[in-house]
Amino acid sequence: MDPTRRGFLKAAVTAAGAAATTPDLAHAQDQDHGHDHQAVPSDLTLRVKALESLLVEKGLVDRAALDAVVDTYETKIGPRNGARVVARAWVDPAYKKRLLADPTAAIAELGYAGGQGEDMVVLENAPKVHNLVVCTLCSCYPWPVLGLPPVWYKSAPYRSRAVIDPRGVLREFGLELDGDVEVRVWDSTAEIRYLVLPERPAGSENMSEEALAALVTRDSMVGVKKVTLAREGARA
Ligand code: FE
Repeated sequence: MDPTRRGFLKAAVTAAGAAATTPDLAHAQDQDHGHDHQAVPSDLTLRVKALESLLVEKGLVDRAALDAVVDTYETKIGPRNGARVVARAWVDPAYKKRLLADPTAAIAELGYAGGQGEDMVVLENAPKVHNLVVCTLCSCYPWPVLGLPPVWYKSAPYRSRAVIDPRGVLREFGLELDGDVEVRVWDSTAEIRYLVLPERPAGSENMSEEALAALVTRDSMVGVKKVTLAREGARA
């Protein structure tokens, strides 16, 4: 299968067309016959393709420009940027001071700036203070440092329960906080975007900045997890 986005969309439409016009019940009933079936693409994929085709046909958007935007968010912007900010703050006290005093400028020092990151606030975790970020209204998220928000961040249960029962939400992410740890919940707005500066894990004293950055997960920068020496897989 063509691994590019354009190829995927093309294949998706072809598969949907085939599924719609050639129902093959005998084939469907015989599931174990030695090859994988291509699943019919989701409604969302088909809608995207239809919308894109229409916009291109009307001359309103350029395919190359669309691909450039998608490529930017798929490969250039993401939580690895935020991880580099965190690791720099851990190893460079002067940088950490600037990061807390003027987050937007300090983050821009590392080259991360732009839409949805114009007014950043960095929240420092400490042994007795844990910060948790949510957008109760919708899905506001600091794109330049974390990329696009994960599905759970946009879900209604997370958005409501993060403020009603933050400790319960954290427990579901596997994070049990002691009773004397203060939990601060921060509600993002259209202007202000938050980045949690997690605690540097014990035992990481001799690690390089690069190795430290590799430990920092997206979830730890939203505040639903801590950073540990064994980096956990991110939750989709
Ligand atoms: Fe929002």
